[in-house]
Amino acid sequence: MNSGYMERAEKVLATTYKRQPLVLTRGKGCRLWDSQDRSYLDFVAGIAVCNLGHGHPDIARALATQAEKLCHVSNLYYTVPQMELAERLTRVSFADRAFFCNSGAEANEAAIKLARKYFSAKNQGARHRIISMERSFHGRTMATLSATGQDKIQKGFEPLLDGFDFVPFGDADALRRQIGPETCAVMLEPVQGEGGVRCPPEGYLAEVRHICDDEGLLLIYDEIQTGIGRTGKLFAYEHSGAVPDIMTLAKALGNGLPIGAMLVTESVAAVFGPGSHATTFGGTPVITAAALEVMRLLIDKGIVAHGAEVGNYFRGRLEDLARRHPDVVEDVRGIGLLLGLKLSTPGDPVVAACMERGFLINCIQDRILRFVPPLVVETPEIDALIDCLDEVLPLLKDA
Ligand SMILES: *Cc1c(COP(=O)(O)O)cnc(C)c1O
Repeated sequence: MNSGYMERAEKVLATTYKRQPLVLTRGKGCRLWDSQDRSYLDFVAGIAVCNLGHGHPDIARALATQAEKLCHVSNLYYTVPQMELAERLTRVSFADRAFFCNSGAEANEAAIKLARKYFSAKNQGARHRIISMERSFHGRTMATLSATGQDKIQKGFEPLLDGFDFVPFGDADALRRQIGPETCAVMLEPVQGEGGVRCPPEGYLAEVRHICDDEGLLLIYDEIQTGIGRTGKLFAYEHSGAVPDIMTLAKALGNGLPIGAMLVTESVAAVFGPGSHATTFGGTPVITAAALEVMRLLIDKGIVAHGAEVGNYFRGRLEDLARRHPDVVEDVRGIGLLLGLKLSTPGDPVVAACMERGFLINCIQDRILRFVPPLVVETPEIDALIDCLDEVLPLLKDA
């Protein structure tokens, strides 16, 4: 059905992904087109990446303009877009300094290294263990998969990097009990994304901040999925008011262009001196110019507030949907436009049936449908998806 592209791809691409049978060729806003020119409403957004939608002319222009001027010179020199992006990110967050890299995993690697360095620089090198959360997701490099609390991601890659302990997400008492003389930091996602769109109980982040202050630990937020407006605030931690010492970003920061960032307070950043950490492509002028335009559009055009509003609407519609299909829907979860629907059966057939009807959604942890559309999604598009799910969910019972 797709001109043999899929067959050709299956012969030559590494088999690390189970792909949907779809060759996508172009996009505009929340809509994508395949190689047969069929269109789809996109509730995946490249996994919470394309928050401003596809084919955004202003981002394309910022990218093209900078690409003609200067793509890359290395961090041996200063460039204006990198400086301006760091200014913008520190102005709108708790942080004083930014380190740029190319992906989420790389941002988390930087955070893990910085947490260790922070204590070794104070001659407390014994403090190197990081408490992470069960069902967390922090990436696929050796350090970040070691920090990830999911067996299926770690299996087969042992020995893992030593120095990570795990406690249940949302349980402040378990966290307190796990802290030992070697603990240096706590690392968590304010809302767990890949782990199943899991929000912590009210007051949890404030409690974790309090524990970290009591015990002299650094608090690291992985906002790679939750940041850049996804949960209805620019950063998810703003819902709680509990600020971290280190925060990592990636996914939506470039709206699809590869960029990661580690944001950090002055006192913690101070231990990362010249030579401590580096990456060739981190913060190139061409990528930071695009990310700067992303931040400008998100903030100046009120897109975060729009996402919060339609997110509330979407959640209400999912709750109605759950009431209409109590035999297949177990739970509605999430915040802003990071939403999930837990089913009582595997979700893959729903994903396939929605795709046939022109809607892209994705399924995580076998039974959880995840909805992370571009933040520019409108209520009629949400209504259309709900109608589609109303039609598809009853089919599960007959299967
Ligand atoms: C996607 C994700 C990562 C990994 O980012 P990559 O860019 O794929 O390396 C890390 N943490 C969270 C919370 C994520 O959602």
